[in-house]
Amino acid sequence: MKTFVLLCSLLASTATIGQSRIHLIPQPVSVQEKQGSFTPGPKTSIRYDPAFREAALYLGEVLSIPVARILPGQTAGAQTILLSKQKSADSAAYILSIRPSLIKATASHPAGILYAVQSIAQLYLTSRDNQLPCAEITDKPRFGYRGLMLDVSRHFAPPEYVKKTIDLLSLYKMNRLHLHLTDGAGWRIQMDKYPKLTSKAAWRTHRNWKDWWKSDRSFSLENNPEAHGGYFTKAQARELVTYAARRGITIIPEIEMPGHSDEVLEAYPHLKCPNVTHKTGEFCIGNDSTFTFMQDVLTEIMEIFPSTYLHIGGDEAGKGNWKKCPKCQQRIRDQKLKDEDELQSYAIRRIEQFISSKGRKLLGWDEILEGGLAPGSTVMSWRGERGGIEAARMGHDVIMTPGSHCYFDHYQQDPATQPEAIGGYLPLQKVYSYEPIPAELEKEKQHHVLGAQANVWTEYIPTTEHLDYMIFPRIIALSETVWSDPSKKNWDDFLSRLYYHYRLLQKKNVNYCRPADKVDIKPAFDSTLLTATVQLNTEQYQPEIRYTLDGTNPVSSSTLYTGPFIINKTVQVRTAIFRNGKAVQKADTLLLDFHKALGKSVTYNRKWVSYPAQKERTLVNGYKGSLTYQDGQWQGFTSDLDVVIDLGKTEALRDVSCTFMQITGPGVYMPDFVEVFVSDDGKTFTSAGKALNDVPTDENRLRFKSFRVQPVNTSARYIHFYAKNHTGFLFADEIVVY
Ligand SMILES: [Zn+2]
Repeated sequence: MKTFVLLCSLLASTATIGQSRIHLIPQPVSVQEKQGSFTPGPKTSIRYDPAFREAALYLGEVLSIPVARILPGQTAGAQTILLSKQKSADSAAYILSIRPSLIKATASHPAGILYAVQSIAQLYLTSRDNQLPCAEITDKPRFGYRGLMLDVSRHFAPPEYVKKTIDLLSLYKMNRLHLHLTDGAGWRIQMDKYPKLTSKAAWRTHRNWKDWWKSDRSFSLENNPEAHGGYFTKAQARELVTYAARRGITIIPEIEMPGHSDEVLEAYPHLKCPNVTHKTGEFCIGNDSTFTFMQDVLTEIMEIFPSTYLHIGGDEAGKGNWKKCPKCQQRIRDQKLKDEDELQSYAIRRIEQFISSKGRKLLGWDEILEGGLAPGSTVMSWRGERGGIEAARMGHDVIMTPGSHCYFDHYQQDPATQPEAIGGYLPLQKVYSYEPIPAELEKEKQHHVLGAQANVWTEYIPTTEHLDYMIFPRIIALSETVWSDPSKKNWDDFLSRLYYHYRLLQKKNVNYCRPADKVDIKPAFDSTLLTATVQLNTEQYQPEIRYTLDGTNPVSSSTLYTGPFIINKTVQVRTAIFRNGKAVQKADTLLLDFHKALGKSVTYNRKWVSYPAQKERTLVNGYKGSLTYQDGQWQGFTSDLDVVIDLGKTEALRDVSCTFMQITGPGVYMPDFVEVFVSDDGKTFTSAGKALNDVPTDENRLRFKSFRVQPVNTSARYIHFYAKNHTGFLFADEIVVY
């Protein structure tokens, strides 16, 4: 019952929520709240150490203090905000003391003082009365890399929007903005040596990426009145770099190679493999012009962006062209490479040498591991954490950006209520739950994990309002994950603070995603599977949740949820949030099945692939899958699902069912059919029935279907459950037996 104890302690700690006047996100190392307030007003002045002028001016803007009252020096009068320098081992650490007539912020470095100033800004912007509550705060970040990646290739975002994003990232103490400047759908930065990259490859025939993708994917010309697109001029990019630096943020530019470069090869076709006549995204690695191009481009990029890291992509290169290209094959022979993986690795290594010769560092997606990792390179682990773990074990630095927790292009609430997204399901609480250091990574390698980053790919995000919606509030949840110590994290407490930040986002004109009126019903089955402790979660702050266990819809007199409750038999839990005596939405429901196969032993005739979920326990552990197959309850097979359940004794059987998922984008299909066989001795089985699929295979909406077999007058000890794989992936969550 470990889980139950944990849940209770979490709830106990939320008892005091609501009284505090301090709602900082991310949560600082320590906060001592005091009586009284500092009220910024016409007499307030700022005095700063000369190193902290930038932060002082910024604070003046936030609190509307005129420049004339922002002066260097350390003499404090009445109503002074003092920014002082003091030695500290951590350049990002700060101490903040707020008293009724004096605010004193100390740090060793402009980074630390900026974070102190942003804490003051947050307290001001989240207060109801423009007062700063008195407090003593000490703080420093857990990770040095706290990032957001913005894809400005699929849909261009203008400089004003990038600045707005920089302001908000800084407010939440994030410190890296990774700009995905180039991709097949558009090149977004002026290059003097290759003017066609912006006169042609930055402009396309359709504004919306999806329409363009479905068309013949043509590029247009800058002066064509019907062209859609855009790019940053060098002057604009430099201005962004300076602007970001003032807000404590480094912009990391990404130039994609050797794949995802369709737009370059449309503008400069001599860089593709010579025998390729169709459109392609891969540079020819056998052609030295490719390296001349990359070095020329990176040279101009380095002139604009002082960032130590240069991101070169490296992801998802199709290697088919290289197999058939005489030049690429010649390169493989000349360099004594084993295959096309090593050819990709050769290209990355060559670029890495160039970058490191200029005193910079190469950053790439985890595919740069394939065929051998270039020395001195840092890996962004996006296909889960595996690449990150592997690279860290090899002694390379890594930044965690796994799709499961960091892809902000995924749905954040029930897809039925949301604008179309590329897929996936990443609700706010899941972002918040992320832990960047994988449990399996050895302690002495953990320092290689520099931090984490959210990625916003924009294929399905055509406007900046929509971008806001996908980024906020999820980035606020991530900010606490990368800044605060795990011991300081608490979902309920976070929600109570976030409530005040919605007001801040409104003041900043951010089109954030509003908290859903949805109740997430989370059962925790105990180890002997005789009971389940049910917790109800929502994104709402202290909502009135009512529930029933008898299958009826909750009404205003139904049981009020006050904390986790225990269930020991099959019930349907129905819950709803109430306001002013009325349910605000349709009830959320979950069937808790205490069925005959629960916790019984399962033998796999064929193993799961890639998606083990809870391994042998998955199909009989009581848990249903959620909206995403990455939730650890859906088990994935590329073969047929073929298992035998031993009930331990002969039981009467009347109903055997299992739910499957279909989402055709990633290749997940319903089984063609399900057949159930039964046996008393585990050797001789007879068929107890078959259930056929009726979901069309071209149905591309997310679909779930329960396949059910109802044996007649049957009892047995062993159940052989078989589901025929249509093609691709088969995902199952629970085999329910009655
Ligand atoms: Zn080639």
